[in-house]
Amino acid sequence: MTATHDVVIIGGGAAGITTAARLKRAGITDIAVIEPSETHYYQPMWTLVGGGEASIAPTARPQSSVIPKGVTWIKAAATGVDPEANTVSLDNGDEVHYSWLVVAAGIQLNWDGVPGLVDTLGRNRVSSNYSYDLAPQTWEAIKSTTSGTAVFTQPNGPIKCAGAPQKIAYLAADHWQRTGVLKDMDIHLILPTPGMFGVPEFAAGLTKVAERYGINVHFESHMTAVDGDAHTLQITKIPTGEVESMHFDMMHVTPPQSAPDWIKASPLADPNSPFGYMEVDKFTLQHTRFPNIFGLGDCTNTPNSKTAAAVRKQSPVLVANLVAARKAQAATKSYNGYASCPLITAKGKCIMAEFDYDLNRTPTFPMDMTKERWDMYQVKKNGLPILYWNFMLKGVA
Ligand SMILES: Cc1cc2nc3c(=O)[nH]c(=O)nc-3n(C[C@H](O)[C@H](O)[C@H](O)COP(=O)(O)OP(=O)(O)OC[C@H]3O[C@@H](n4cnc5c(N)ncnc54)[C@H](O)[C@@H]3O)c2cc1C
Repeated sequence: MTATHDVVIIGGGAAGITTAARLKRAGITDIAVIEPSETHYYQPMWTLVGGGEASIAPTARPQSSVIPKGVTWIKAAATGVDPEANTVSLDNGDEVHYSWLVVAAGIQLNWDGVPGLVDTLGRNRVSSNYSYDLAPQTWEAIKSTTSGTAVFTQPNGPIKCAGAPQKIAYLAADHWQRTGVLKDMDIHLILPTPGMFGVPEFAAGLTKVAERYGINVHFESHMTAVDGDAHTLQITKIPTGEVESMHFDMMHVTPPQSAPDWIKASPLADPNSPFGYMEVDKFTLQHTRFPNIFGLGDCTNTPNSKTAAAVRKQSPVLVANLVAARKAQAATKSYNGYASCPLITAKGKCIMAEFDYDLNRTPTFPMDMTKERWDMYQVKKNGLPILYWNFMLKGVA
């Protein structure tokens, strides 16, 4: 079966739904969203779930409740795109023909990228905030650990919310401090980067936070194997390949990530992206080789920090440029790489990092945003979910 739609969007996550709503507001009447999941997730809250500061249930809503009225929902997964024939193939054997295509399929979590990881997830006090099912278990692992070694890992390569692997380490350390056992904990943060954060002003603040908790930071390192039953992990130093083995009593894992396999294997992928991300112009968000295809969110090769905050700024740019392209006009808007990462450093404390492609700081509020702030914690915990569900997904913020 082949259906035909004017604009087809692959993915009904943060980027796909926001963009569907904005395209509809721009007057486009025939829009279809290809999305296999019955549930839409607000993933940024999973850090607070893992830190015992929020419950998981409100982070999920029926997909049907977020798809804008009048937009067709094709309940299937895309398996490929033929940009010459202007068709998307689906996992149910159908095809969808498009005049304009928006790819917003998110990032792929490669749990099997670390040998031994799948066998121990959810067991042996190994958890991850990167999954709806596992995030509540992170809090259980933190609460039930009162002494010993705690390890928090970040994989090599781009990931969504690059601050998340650190935030949960700080929330855990804060909990152990409040309960008087921090002195009995040996905490390790494994980072692939040479510093705490790309923007020097925020890196300085995070260095102080890690020192305050006595966290041992392993730079330019990543986890390359884990044996959950033996409670050991292998850490590899990226520049030298040197391998070290470490014991753990609890561990929070951020899995290796990449573009979805079907994008990697498609003509849409950037041939120079080692992780197979989709190739778009980083300013216009239009595909560099196929002008009737646009992309946004975590699945593209734009070098911003992969966040819902970035999606909020990308979507209006993409919609304006797609509308212009339909009239055979040049792109009218440019995305500057804006992203925001609310770096939670304790219960009630947050450094609100906002920055662009050039790592210039782009603060929304006029206060000193390089400091840990209580008000920004409230914005993160209570304000941003309202912004997301009630305004961003409706295409008005
Ligand atoms: C623990 C954690 C903490 C985070 N913290 C923050 C934060 O503090 N601030 C922030 O801004 N961001 C944060 N993020 C990142 C944010 O959630 C993502 O950047 C954002 O959701 C990206 O939107 P997206 O639409 O590209 O991807 P997603 O929202 O993941 O949506 C992708 C959609 O595509 C669908 N899909 C997948 N494959 C296919 C296919 N083959 N065909 C069709 N559809 C498909 C999926 O089902 C999904 O609905 C965090 C994420 C995590 C996991």
